Amino acid sequence: MSVCDLAPGYIRAIAPYQPGKPTSELARELGLDEAGIVKLASNENPLGVSPKAARALRALLDGLARYPDGNGFELKQALSRRFGVGLDCIVLGNGSNDVLELAARAFLAPGLSAVYAQHAFAVYPLAVQAIGARGIVVPARDFGHDLAAMAAAVQPDTRIVFIANPNNPTGTFVSGAELEKFIAALPRDVLVVLDEAYTEYLRPDFRYDSISWLGKYPNLVITRTFSKVYGLAGLRVGYALAARDVADLMNRVRQPFNVNSLSLAAAAAALEDEDFVRESYELNCRGMDQIVSGLARLGLGHIPSYGNFVTFAVPGAAGVFQKLLRQGVIVRPIAGYGMPDHLRVSIGLESENARFLEALRQALG
Ligand SMILES: *Cc1c(COP(=O)(O)O)cnc(C)c1O
Repeated sequence: MSVCDLAPGYIRAIAPYQPGKPTSELARELGLDEAGIVKLASNENPLGVSPKAARALRALLDGLARYPDGNGFELKQALSRRFGVGLDCIVLGNGSNDVLELAARAFLAPGLSAVYAQHAFAVYPLAVQAIGARGIVVPARDFGHDLAAMAAAVQPDTRIVFIANPNNPTGTFVSGAELEKFIAALPRDVLVVLDEAYTEYLRPDFRYDSISWLGKYPNLVITRTFSKVYGLAGLRVGYALAARDVADLMNRVRQPFNVNSLSLAAAAAALEDEDFVRESYELNCRGMDQIVSGLARLGLGHIPSYGNFVTFAVPGAAGVFQKLLRQGVIVRPIAGYGMPDHLRVSIGLESENARFLEALRQALG
């Protein structure tokens, strides 16, 4: 018997997360020029890093011999000013992925359960399984969250409900009003982890002020990230906003230096770069229109998306994915999300979107 056989069964049962294929890997595999590859697989910001963040990063290189500020004081101050929440209501993470895991680690254990939707973000089942807690998967409605069914699925042993709004990979959205009604009706001893990774991409008429709910619902945790509209996916930094005692428990289970110095400084600078955020938002609106109308011209249906990506149905999705790769275009297969007949494409620059649509036309040939 090996030591691995003795690892808990719930660990051995975890299906590893499948990331988008890196451009360097595709270049290696197919002998392509990496510079010519278009990666639209991981919902990254096609504009790159905010100039303000880049400046902050360059200024920091000489200080890297020192440990980071384990409390992330400056970034927390910037977040506190922006959102009007106390410093002690903020939890910083190595990506919001880390923060999602902190919530699971602080509030779940074997014998407890968490509720999330079919086709919801893959990190929820991963975080729950790693604890040995039970995941309760609620069937989706029109690919999105069925909030009534999720409320009904909550058990006496349920401690967390995960909701991504908008959701990845489906791009679906529930309104602020529906969401607040759901949270208000939930028992206060069940945490709602509201994952708003794409909230900055919402068009103005869909925006809602979840942060104002924190005062009313002590069981609400809002998570956000610098990986998407702020353009810092490679640095890994995200945060949670929650009631003080909830944030305190989450902070106790994090690594003392879970966010590195570069990430802290770049995130604080990116938060202030409102021009970059606006530019990224506007580029995404135009790119979404470009891709959605291009898909329609190819006769392909899509799921209306509120994020910086769109999921479309295509016959022989796995084969189409491969044909796109051979043309140097990386999108995301989502069979692992129970959607083997769909592919997800991130919104890129206008030229990248055009490359994708042309490659797709050829692949469908
Ligand atoms: C991209 C994404 C995140 C952010 O992940 P990071 O760890 O912050 O890079 C979180 N939730 C959802 C639903 C996402 O799609």
